[in-house]
Amino acid sequence: MQVKAIDVHVHLNDVETIAAAGPRGAQMAAYFGKEQKPVHVDELADQYRAREMMAVLMNSCDGTTSGYAAVPNDHIAAAVRKHPDVFIGFGAIDPWQGKLAQNEIRRCAEELGLKGIGELHGARQHFHPNDARFYPLWEEAAKHDLPILFHTGMLAAGAGTRGGMGFKMKYNAPIPNLDDVAADFPELTIIAAHPSWPWAEQSLAICQHKMNYLIDLSGWAPKYWPPSLVHYANSVLQNRVLFGSDWPAIAPERWVEEFEALPFKPEVRQKIMLDNAKRLFKLP
Ligand SMILES: [Zn+2]
Repeated sequence: MQVKAIDVHVHLNDVETIAAAGPRGAQMAAYFGKEQKPVHVDELADQYRAREMMAVLMNSCDGTTSGYAAVPNDHIAAAVRKHPDVFIGFGAIDPWQGKLAQNEIRRCAEELGLKGIGELHGARQHFHPNDARFYPLWEEAAKHDLPILFHTGMLAAGAGTRGGMGFKMKYNAPIPNLDDVAADFPELTIIAAHPSWPWAEQSLAICQHKMNYLIDLSGWAPKYWPPSLVHYANSVLQNRVLFGSDWPAIAPERWVEEFEALPFKPEVRQKIMLDNAKRLFKLP
């Protein structure tokens, strides 16, 4: 397969993962106006082959706060082992598990062959990434050269319900949460997931200021991107923004169609769709 693009933000939506999400799964599906139809990993692999894209698979793990145990990281590792031509895998951790979470990061790198940690989610996991109690985790990820992907901005989880299922957005503001971590761990690569609305400018500023900070453009339909994001991604930040869909929330086809309608330079499109991610994952 000639890989034309790497979708750096893809969630599994198979029977196991849907069951583990508990009631949040159904709420998210309702919010995005989609039916909760399971897609087996083999089928997902075929879909990405048909698109001539690779997909970075990720899950999340918020058992401490939600009461729902996540699917073990071995599940994504198995999908990658079965379909190494299309899948790259990230491992999920629950930051409140402390030393266990730290050990899990090491296991993701050394035993499971995963290439990053994420998606971490301040609001859903009720934690501030810049709280020093979590610093051993970021240190561990940096030691194993694993980038960490943090959700930023508004969240779909809880959206459209009274009280937003109790999720608080303060944890998802890039400044100070991720700016502090990027400053304190220059050897760690941080991927800020999504355009960070309503803090898009914060994320753009960190990205301009700190070279270990990347932005994935997932989860927000390109036609609604703020003009400043298009401007910076098309110019000074062109080497550090990444294509991501956030499937099943947004279909890659829709993302690509709307991205094509935006005024990006051809050479920048190539970087966003493929080259920047290839460099991140050290692919030939
Ligand atoms: Zn997210």
